[in-house]
Amino acid sequence: MMTKTFLTIASIFSFSILLAQNSTGYWQQHVDYEMEIDFDAKDYQYDGSQVLEYTNNSPDTLDRVFYHMYFNAFQPGSEMDVRSRTIEDPDSRVGDRISKLSDEEIGFMRAKTLQQDGKELNFKLVGTVLEVELNEPILPGKSSTFKMDFEGQVPVQIRRSGRNNAEGVELSMTQWYPKMAEYDFEGWHADPYIGREFHGVWGNFDVKISIDKDFILGGTGYIQNPNEVGYGYEDEGEKVRRRGKKLTWHFNAPNVHDFAWAADKDYIHDKITGKDGTTLHFLYKDNKEIIENWKNLQSKTSDLLDFFNEHIGPYPYDQYSVIQGGDGGMEYAMCTLITGEREFGSLVGVTAHEMAHSWFQHILATDEAQHEWMDEGFTSYISSLAMNEVMDQNRENVFAGTYRGYTSLANSGFEQPQTTHADRYEYNSAYGVTAYSKGSVFLAQLGYLIGQENLDNTLNRYFDEWKFKHPTPNDFIRIAEKVSGAELSWYLNDWTRTTNTIDYAIKGVSVEPGTTIVTLERVALTPMPIEVKVDFKGGTSETYYIPLRIMRWTKPGATNIQEDWAWAFPTYTLEIPSPQYGVEKIEIDPSGLMADVNRENNVKVLNE
Ligand SMILES: [Zn+2]
Repeated sequence: MMTKTFLTIASIFSFSILLAQNSTGYWQQHVDYEMEIDFDAKDYQYDGSQVLEYTNNSPDTLDRVFYHMYFNAFQPGSEMDVRSRTIEDPDSRVGDRISKLSDEEIGFMRAKTLQQDGKELNFKLVGTVLEVELNEPILPGKSSTFKMDFEGQVPVQIRRSGRNNAEGVELSMTQWYPKMAEYDFEGWHADPYIGREFHGVWGNFDVKISIDKDFILGGTGYIQNPNEVGYGYEDEGEKVRRRGKKLTWHFNAPNVHDFAWAADKDYIHDKITGKDGTTLHFLYKDNKEIIENWKNLQSKTSDLLDFFNEHIGPYPYDQYSVIQGGDGGMEYAMCTLITGEREFGSLVGVTAHEMAHSWFQHILATDEAQHEWMDEGFTSYISSLAMNEVMDQNRENVFAGTYRGYTSLANSGFEQPQTTHADRYEYNSAYGVTAYSKGSVFLAQLGYLIGQENLDNTLNRYFDEWKFKHPTPNDFIRIAEKVSGAELSWYLNDWTRTTNTIDYAIKGVSVEPGTTIVTLERVALTPMPIEVKVDFKGGTSETYYIPLRIMRWTKPGATNIQEDWAWAFPTYTLEIPSPQYGVEKIEIDPSGLMADVNRENNVKVLNE
């Protein structure tokens, strides 16, 4: 009897644990790629075979799949082309250039044959997306093997990838292979390639690239045959003999969601080892104008790695490569492609930004098309802090310019909510400020809300809990809530889903014996807790903290804590006990970390 009761309790207990685990509801798809590429560098074309083992971890039965065929964007009349020619402020790198490409200059990516578990499939190429009807649906928990033969042509370098970039790098090979689209709790993400950006399925890549043996490659993944390829990858003291016309480079990349590479015959290849043991590779043109900068970049990159390891979480791969290529700076798995003919500060700056994306984009893989601010904004936030430290910038408010950028967009009337799909902004410039600046302010201002230490801990815990997954905005704010204890859903809502702004003002001041009465006003819609600094005549000052009622919380370290301010009330009365000589100056948010769109009404100087 007793045993049975005990067993029942035990089984109820373990059942409830099981339920608790399932109630998070998180799942993600998995894909393993095997690719063999035969590259013809003379006409920039390649043939590929791809075997893809796809596992459906969703609770749904899938009766179709989609592949991204990105290179088809670089054809006259593509969505990328037409969008660039119809938007008012096109990216200057694109402009109308795609419309003028000849057949030899376009990019293409075509499937020749496609099979599922050995049986031919019907497929249809629609722009940059291959739509595939399955013969056999993939049931929840089941896997299917897809085998594709494909052919591609590398476009003239226009955006991100291509041949012969402005600095003479021959091959920037990004978004270059048929890539399975992601299916997640929101369904399929078969976004056409218009301007930006990427979302992919986590998995392992095994890639063999055969190319003229004079090319030196860098990219995602560990080289499996270093002593056959050489060029600085070989073991120390190893003599490398490259026989035949072509050389096969064999890469293996575990647990990534993209694969990129670049190749040039004139690359210098240096490597150093970071403090954490990560091997840092640098591949750059043998151009005497840039060599010194690229040598000096190497120890800075190691410092950046240390900064991100500490402030976000430990870099989980053994290798990272900074590769000259592309058309600016773009992040990829275990590497970046950046242009390299830059002033030193700009070279370190672009490396800082793209390297930070290894955390915010790659390891913490948010859907960039939908949550571009989590990707670009978080990256901008952490790389600004990293640059301040690594380059000894000693800036008082690292984010002052970032706030100004956001404020001017907010006041322009052209702002769209951060929930806007990355391709759906009316202006590219509005996308830029919304994703990068407003996204960075989201974090810096969260530090204002919950305190810097809570923010730092939030980033660390966010990394721990969401690495190698696809976190959403809510996943992030829940971590911030759990770390701080404050209620923050209102912040996520106002800041990211609306264009509501923050504007608090000093409406009036009246002086009575021993007391200064300040009337504060919430002018705009977004609520905030308020910090008011009061300078007294005679040189002393005090900071008063007014909690925001809906946060149900008080900031640690706050001084002169007042009654909370309920959002619906447009005004608030702050009584300041004043010494004999009285008050000289009153200022809302002396930190500058509250993104008040009108700071002119934040300060009151009392002259008497
Ligand atoms: Zn970025």
